[in-house]
Amino acid sequence: MKHKITLIEGDGTGPELVDAMKRCVESTGVNIEWDVQEAGADVIEKYKTPLPDKVIGSIKKNKVAIKGPITTPLGSGFRSVNVALRHKLDLFACVRPCKYYAGAQSLLKNPENVDIIIIRENTEDLYAGIEFEEGSEKARKIIGEIAQLSEKQIKPDSGISIKPISLSGSKRIANFAFNYAVQHSRKKVTAVTKSNIMKFSDGLFQSVAESESKNFPAIEFEHKLIDNMCMQLVQKPELYDVLVLPNLYGDIISDLCAGLVGGLGVAPGANIGDKYAVFEATHGSAPKYKGMNKVNPAALILSAVMMLSHINENEAAKKLEMAVADVIKEGTHVTYDLKPFGDDSAVGTKEMAGAIIKKMK
Ligand code: NAD
Repeated sequence: MKHKITLIEGDGTGPELVDAMKRCVESTGVNIEWDVQEAGADVIEKYKTPLPDKVIGSIKKNKVAIKGPITTPLGSGFRSVNVALRHKLDLFACVRPCKYYAGAQSLLKNPENVDIIIIRENTEDLYAGIEFEEGSEKARKIIGEIAQLSEKQIKPDSGISIKPISLSGSKRIANFAFNYAVQHSRKKVTAVTKSNIMKFSDGLFQSVAESESKNFPAIEFEHKLIDNMCMQLVQKPELYDVLVLPNLYGDIISDLCAGLVGGLGVAPGANIGDKYAVFEATHGSAPKYKGMNKVNPAALILSAVMMLSHINENEAAKKLEMAVADVIKEGTHVTYDLKPFGDDSAVGTKEMAGAIIKKMK
C-alpha cells in the first residue's frame, strides 16, 4: 500500500534532519510518496507568509505530515508557525515519549527505569496567542475593563498575555490521556497544574481530569503541582507513567524529561487531532548548527517511528526503532550529544543515519 505524506523540511537544521529521516524511512521498504511543502522563515519572501495555505491544504488532503523544526525569531513580528499549524488543524494533543535508550548520556543513576509519556494540551493556555502589547490602545482598554471587573489592578505599563483553559478543551485532552493509557497498557495518569494559584484555569483542568478519571477505573489517577513535579521528575522519574498537562507546563516538562533520558537529540513527538496528525521532534531548529552536519537525527527518526505506527506500518516502525536503539547502544556511529563529554569521535547527522540504515539491512 502506498502512503501519501506531507513533508515539511523546516529551517535551521531542519532540512538536514529531514533528509536523514527520509532516507531511514525509505530504507524500511514502506511505500511512501512525499508531498513536499515549504514553510518557515525562509519562504516569507516567496509566499508573503511563513505558513502558505497550500501547506494546510496538503495536510488536510493527506491527513498525515512529518516536519523538521521551524524557527520563531524572538521579538519579531511573526508568530510561531508550529503553534499556527496546531491551531489551524486542531491538533489538540501533543504526545512526547521520553524513554531511555541504553547508551544515551543521562545523568541519572538508573535511567533505564524512565519511560514517561507526556500528553500536552496543544491549543489553549498561554499559547492561545491572545496578547496585548504594553502601551497599546487595546492594552489600555483591557486594563481599564479589568479594573471594573476585579478588585485587583493591573499596572498601566503592563503587557498582557491571556491564559484561557476551557472545560471542553480540558475534557478532550484528559480523555485522550486516559485512552492512551488504556491502549498502551499504561498504569497511571498524573495531571500536572498550578491549581493552588490559578484556580479558574489550572483548577478547572485539574477537576476535569479528576472527573474524567472516574470513567477509567483501571487507570490510577493523581494530581501534582508543577513545581513539586519538577523536583519529583529529577529525583524519582521512575514513579511516573503518563503525564497530562496544560500547554505551557507540557512544553517545559517535555524538555526536562528529554534531559533526563539523554537530551533533545532522542526526544520524539506527535501532534494529534481528530482528523490529522503531524509528527515532529521535541527540539527546535538549533540554528547555530545549521548546515554543519552535526545534530542528532534520532529524535526526528523516532518521530517517524511514531508516524509509521500511526499509519499501521508496525513492522517497519519496530525495525526502525530497533535500529536506532542498536546504533545508540553501540555508541560508535553517533552524534556529539551521544558521546561522553570530552570524547571527540562523534560522527555527523548523515553518518548516524547511514549507520541506522545499515543496521536495518
Ligand atoms: P533548540 O531545541 O533548537 O536547541 C536547543 C539546544 O538543544 C541546541 O543548541 C542543541 O544544543 C540542543 N539540540 C537541539 N536539537 C538537537 C539535536 N537534534 N541534536 C543534538 N542537540 C540538539 O531550542 P532553541 O535554541 O531554544 O530554539 C531554536 C528555534 O527553534 C527557536 O526559534 C524556537 O522558537 C524554535 N523551536 C521550534 C520548535 C518546532 O519546530 N516545533 C520547537 C522548539 C523550538
